[in-house]
Amino acid sequence: MSVFHPDRLPSLSRLPKELGREERLCAGCGEATGHILYRVPKKVVLVYLKDHPENVHATCIKCARSTVLGGEERERALSLENR
Ligand SMILES: [Zn+2]
Repeated sequence: MSVFHPDRLPSLSRLPKELGREERLCAGCGEATGHILYRVPKKVVLVYLKDHPENVHATCIKCARSTVLGGEERERALSLENR
């Protein structure tokens, strides 16, 4: 039996989860590039929250710059998860 049982690693809950990918304008590259959309947990006291206003990030696959998505963009990214 492995010591590294996933269910017993609380740190896993802090890992970003990929929601999907899309082309979007990158502030770093100055052009439309592929981005990976992530839901990023936030640590509050001793627990990680899945839901908070800045939990969705888009990371450019060219320059690795991350953007926090808000409003409709955030809702749309979150809706990708359950497709
Ligand atoms: Zn970029």
